[in-house]
Amino acid sequence: MMEKIQMTTPIVEMDGDEMTRIIWQIIKDELILPFVDLKTEYYDLGLIKRNDTDDQITVDAANATKKYGVAVKCATITPNAQRVEEYKLKKMWKSPNGTIRAILDGTVFRAPITVKGIDPYIPTWEKPIIIARHAYGDIYKNTELKAPAGSVAKLVVENPDGTRQEAVINEYKCDGIVQGVHNLDDSISSFARSCFNFALDEKKDLWFSTKDTISKTYDHRFKDIFAEIFEKEYKDKFEAAGITYFYTLIDDAVARVIRSNGGFIWALKNYDGDVMSDMVATAFGSLGMMTSVLVSPDGTYEYEAAHGTVTAHYYKHLRGDTTSTNSVATIFAWSGALYRRGVKDNNERLCAFAKALETATVKTIEDGTMTGDLYRLSKAENKKQTDTFGFIKAIRENLTKQVF
Ligand code: NAP
Ligand code: MG
Repeated sequence: MMEKIQMTTPIVEMDGDEMTRIIWQIIKDELILPFVDLKTEYYDLGLIKRNDTDDQITVDAANATKKYGVAVKCATITPNAQRVEEYKLKKMWKSPNGTIRAILDGTVFRAPITVKGIDPYIPTWEKPIIIARHAYGDIYKNTELKAPAGSVAKLVVENPDGTRQEAVINEYKCDGIVQGVHNLDDSISSFARSCFNFALDEKKDLWFSTKDTISKTYDHRFKDIFAEIFEKEYKDKFEAAGITYFYTLIDDAVARVIRSNGGFIWALKNYDGDVMSDMVATAFGSLGMMTSVLVSPDGTYEYEAAHGTVTAHYYKHLRGDTTSTNSVATIFAWSGALYRRGVKDNNERLCAFAKALETATVKTIEDGTMTGDLYRLSKAENKKQTDTFGFIKAIRENLTKQVF
C-alpha cells in the first residue's frame, strides 16, 4: 500500500444538497480518502442546516474561506416559494453563492472540460471559451419593491456633505415593480485586474462586453474602469505576451462568440456571466463538464461545479431508480481545490495527485465509459453508459494506475 498524501493546512469543505450531495460523498469515499489524508474544515450548507442556523453557517463558511484561502463547494438549493413549502423553511433564504461572493468579492472563472469524442454544438469552436463572471453586486444584491398605481418611485443618493441627488424612476399609472441595484468602483477594479491577470496567466485574449449604450452611467462605468486600468497597468504586458484586450457591446459580443474559434476569455457582468456560462457550457457538451472557481482580489479560491443540485435525478434516486448523473465538474472542483492547496503549501505530492485525478477522469471518458448526458453526445465507437456510481468506480480504477 502506498502511503497516503499528507496535508498541512485544511481546505474549507462546503457540503450541499440533493443529487450533488450524494455524489459529494461518493467522490470523497472512492477518489480522495483512499489516497489523501484529507484535512478539511467542514460546513454543511445543505438547506436544512442553513434553515436551522438562520443561514449563519453560510457566512461562517465564507469567513473560513478567507482564513484558509481555499474552499471546495457542493451545489446548493437556492430556495424559491416551492422550496419554502417543500422544506418548511423559516424564510426564503438567499442564494448561498450570492452570500459567499458578497463576502469574498472577486471574479468567477468558468471553463469547459473538453474531451476527445465529444464535439461542441458550434462546429467552429475549436478551443474552450472561458467565462469570467463578476461576482459582486447588480441584481444579486438588489432591493426590490412593488409599486402600486399612483405611486412615484425615486432614486435618491444622500451625499456625505449633506446634499442629495434625486431622480424620478417612474410615476405609476398602474401597479408595477421597481428595483435598485449597485456596484462599487473597488469591486469593478478588482474584477478588471483579475481578468487581466488571468488572461496573462493563460496567454489568452480577453473580451469584455456590457450594455453601455443603454446604461450610460452604470454599465459605462465598467467599460471606463476596464479601459483606464488596461491603459495604465496592462497594455505593455499584453503586447509583450502577444494577446489583446477587446471591448464590445454585449449584443455584438454574442454574435462574435458564436462565429469564433474559441480560445479566449470572455469577461461579463454578474447576470450576463450567469446566463452566458450556462449557454457556453451546454454548447460545449454538458453542464456537468463546466468548472467554476471564484478568485478574490486577495488570492482566495473557492472551487465548485457550475451546475445545480440536479433535482430531477435526485428524485429518481429517492424512488430507487438508476441515475446517470455526471460527476466530472464536482470532481474537478475537488481536484482544483486540492491543487491550489498544494500550490499554496508547496505540497508537490498533493498537486500531482490533483492532476492525476483529472487525468484519470478524462481518460475514463475518452476510453468510452461515461454518464448518460455524455453518452448521447459522444462519437466514441466503443462507448458505454454507466450509472452515477459506476462512473466514479471506473475513474477509481484508472486513478489507481496513475503515479503521484
Ligand atoms: P441543474 O441542477 O443544473 O440541472 C438542470 C438539468 O441539467 C438537469 O435536470 C439535467 O438535465 C442537467 N444537468 C445538470 N447537471 C448535470 C449533471 N451533473 N449530470 C447530468 N445532467 C445534468 O439546474 P436546476 O434543475 O435548474 O436547479 C436545481 C437546483 O440547483 C435549484 O434548487 C437551484 O437553486 C440549484 N442551483 C444551484 C447552483 C449552485 O449551487 N452553484 C447553481 C444552479 C442551480 P436532465 O434532467 O435532462 O438529465
Ligand atoms: Mg446560472
